Amino acid sequence: MHDNTYLPDHFLRHIAAIMPAHLSMDEFVASCRRPLRRSIRVNTLKISVAAFVARMQPLGWQLDPVPWCDTGFWLSREDESVPLGNTAEHLSGLFYIQEASSMLPVTALFACEQTRRDGMLLDAAAAPGSKTTQIAALMNNQGMLVANEYSSSRLKVLSANLQRCGVTNVGMTHFDAKVFGQWLPETFDAILLDAPCSGEGTVRKDEDALRNWSIESIDEIAAVQQGLLESAFHALKPGGVLVYSTCTLSLQENQTVCQSLQDKFGDAFSFDSLADLFPAAEQACTPEGYLHVWPQIFDSEGFFVARLRKHHSVPNTMFKPGKLGKFPFLPLPAKESGPMLREIEATFGVVPQGNLFGRSEEIWLFPQLFEQVQGKLRFDRIGLKLAETFKKGYRLTHEWALAYGDGASKGFVELDIADAREFMMGRDVWPEQEAAGTGEVIVRYQGHTLGMGKWVGSRVKNALPRELVRDNNLFV
Ligand code: SAM
Repeated sequence: MHDNTYLPDHFLRHIAAIMPAHLSMDEFVASCRRPLRRSIRVNTLKISVAAFVARMQPLGWQLDPVPWCDTGFWLSREDESVPLGNTAEHLSGLFYIQEASSMLPVTALFACEQTRRDGMLLDAAAAPGSKTTQIAALMNNQGMLVANEYSSSRLKVLSANLQRCGVTNVGMTHFDAKVFGQWLPETFDAILLDAPCSGEGTVRKDEDALRNWSIESIDEIAAVQQGLLESAFHALKPGGVLVYSTCTLSLQENQTVCQSLQDKFGDAFSFDSLADLFPAAEQACTPEGYLHVWPQIFDSEGFFVARLRKHHSVPNTMFKPGKLGKFPFLPLPAKESGPMLREIEATFGVVPQGNLFGRSEEIWLFPQLFEQVQGKLRFDRIGLKLAETFKKGYRLTHEWALAYGDGASKGFVELDIADAREFMMGRDVWPEQEAAGTGEVIVRYQGHTLGMGKWVGSRVKNALPRELVRDNNLFV
């Protein structure tokens, strides 16, 4: 029980006025004071759900399926001494710690045939990346996903999560998301706008979430949300699908924002009913077909999800091309890319997918669809940094290893648990059970990649980026 959860009277009065008749305020307050159940999502870019369950059950993990996400589970562990984030499976990107109701928007986005898995998608407010990684997994790293985030510090966390999870089809941008309608009209097959919000649904995770709550602040943020939704709508192709979601409960930030779009664009789009999204979804369904997830319904955080389909174009007075600056990359000439790809295949038995581009001492793998947005938007990072070059050759990156290492059929070394811990602590290792090799080597533990190393005699020299080194409380 979280007795300290701050639930001010004026907030509770505001909620009581909008609580649906079939739900009780007492249960709402009780659930706000109850700690959240832990939940995770299996990253199917790296492991199947069945293989993950088989791997974790012997370690005492109880995994109860989240009914609205095939890859989501509530988790209880017999031994909680190692933080989830320090488990070998988290470090090698096999799962993402994600609140169960926050899995809903992406499920809604993909539960319709219009969402093309190999298309051009936008995640307009993406950090820290729980939904970006969920979308990338459903796209199976195909097509291209533009993941945008306004806050610089959160952008770094987004980037780290994409790398850990082996995501290769994302272009990351750093703008106020209201630019997309102006700069990229009718560009995206599907869009997620998981909007910044007042976070009324998050008190179970953060007991102070409502410290600064006021009607004025929710009205202010609702105006921002309306602008973002309108812009995202312009950026959507006719025939495309858009999901608007928040982790808040007030009508102003949810139903009213959707209504304002309807008032503006009338029959150019329609909202889908999400009542059948999963068994029991109707318990959270509003008359308009949105999901308004009160925390007591599914014992989760509060959430709101609406999905619309765009039927036809609307006049866009917003359009003006963005300022780009100089694009610093050039396609790698075939005489350089061919030998490099052949060498990677010969050494590791995997072929990197995508188009190779270079800038100064870096070689990148861009998503196949990148050319559709090239020259229209400035990116902070595109796809995956494959290698750093130096005078006599190149060095494959940690992020390449995390994306491709699990699929390697050779050129890897498998560590035991003691060496795996040493490796994650930034130390060199002497794997006894393996014959020493030469050159760069993918370092794995139980079949999944921890990073890159380099053989020096019988020692594997540690090439883990310094910022990823953990010094205590690692998996045992
Ligand atoms: N989708 C994320 C996830 O699932 O991990 C959570 C997104 S959070 C609800 C909203 C994000 O929007 C925050 O990271 C915030 O920094 C960002 N943001 C705030 N204002 C924005 C704007 N005008 N344009 C784009 N992003 C914005």
